[in-house]
Amino acid sequence: MSFESLGLSAELLRAIAEQGYSQPTVIQRKAIPVVLAGKDVMAGAQTGTGKTAGFTLPLLQRLMQIASPKGHRPIRALVLTPTRELAAQVGESIATYGRHLPLRSAVVFGGVKINPQIDTLRRGVDILIATPGRLLDHAGQRTVDLSHVEILVLDEADRMLDMGFIHDIRKVLALLPERERRQNLLFSATFSDEIKSLADRLLNAPELVEAAPRNATAERIAQRVYPVDKARKRELLSHLICSHGWSQVLVFTRTKHGANRLSQQLQKDGIDSAAIHGNKSQGARTRALAGFKAGEVRVLVATDIAARGLDIDQLPHVVNFELPNVPEDYVHRIGRTGRAGREGEAISLVCVDEHKLLRDIERLLNCRLPQQQLPGFEPDPTIAAEPIRNGRGGDRPARGTVRRQGGGQRDKATGRTTGNAAKPRQQQKQENAQKTTARKRPAPIRRSEKPSLFGG
Ligand code: AMP
Repeated sequence: MSFESLGLSAELLRAIAEQGYSQPTVIQRKAIPVVLAGKDVMAGAQTGTGKTAGFTLPLLQRLMQIASPKGHRPIRALVLTPTRELAAQVGESIATYGRHLPLRSAVVFGGVKINPQIDTLRRGVDILIATPGRLLDHAGQRTVDLSHVEILVLDEADRMLDMGFIHDIRKVLALLPERERRQNLLFSATFSDEIKSLADRLLNAPELVEAAPRNATAERIAQRVYPVDKARKRELLSHLICSHGWSQVLVFTRTKHGANRLSQQLQKDGIDSAAIHGNKSQGARTRALAGFKAGEVRVLVATDIAARGLDIDQLPHVVNFELPNVPEDYVHRIGRTGRAGREGEAISLVCVDEHKLLRDIERLLNCRLPQQQLPGFEPDPTIAAEPIRNGRGGDRPARGTVRRQGGGQRDKATGRTTGNAAKPRQQQKQENAQKTTARKRPAPIRRSEKPSLFGG
């Protein structure tokens, strides 16, 4: 099947050809005609499937088809993403695919100054890509008007819920025209009960489209487990990188501190490395990512939150230096490689403490991961397992966020309370009861964005 047969306009086909894409991916084939027909969509697609073009291309075409109100330039399409990196990437895709169209887009996320964003918004944009926190900051300052939004996209909706954005999403929805008057697209890699209930509130009679079986890992990713003692993981990682001559490796650690430490140790081993996580400034994150993409930084060490949505063309190797505490995060991590039909390799270094986490992952994948013992790095059978520490995983809330009893958190800067502590006791009880039957999720992460924009 060709892009032409999907009914896309000449301007879009030109931009696609300039990108060098010859054929639509599965999710593009399924989603583009449905979105072009003006229907709501619930799409099961993880990153790497070509999902961004799957909603961006028809979104651009729809905006060109529907006449825009005369006189001013209201925001007509809103794309919400969980992370700044994903927002920036979606912004780049929209700019790339829409380069032959007279539409303007902008990206707003936290961690950068807000004033340039306000200027861009004041000049008028057709498409806004935003993280929920910064968008609400703009709404609070009345520097954004969402009352003319015709198309809403929720990208990586499952990550947004994992990161505790549900309250922010509700607030954003309240600023939009009622749902019958907009087209709604929800993209998610996994479908939990929470996602389904969000979809019920958000979508009008949606069409379900899927790129791959739910919760499945990309077929083109070769996965392997190296059993090794915890104390020798760094040595084994350096050995693998050097002996195989890997030039671009994304490594996951469980904590921010662990990411920093590992990156420093790799530097000492003579391997160019940088760490990205929630405690790094946006500038440092952007620089590290740019250096990694350009091939100047050989190893990027990241926590789960920081790496969400990262799109690195042809990333060949992902290493789980530590397994994630939430099995679904394994799927998201290894989805950084093997993208858009290319091959990739995902390696996990597993010590005795992590055997239970490995079993949980294998249960989710419904398969055993192949194991390989590397001579000289065989685990010492006399070492017994210790419980995994560091809470329930990933980045802990950024500095400036106070954990409260009952799981709620208060932001020092805003004084706003989020999570359970913000809820009436009865509601909290009901939710806790529901949670015991739902799968385990990481503790909600309070957004660490400080007010600020980014012209796109
Ligand atoms: P996404 O799932 O949107 O994060 O996209 C993953 C990667 O696939 C990106 O690097 C895109 O540039 C690339 N891509 C998107 N559509 C296609 C296509 N039809 N053919 C080849 N590569 C594509």
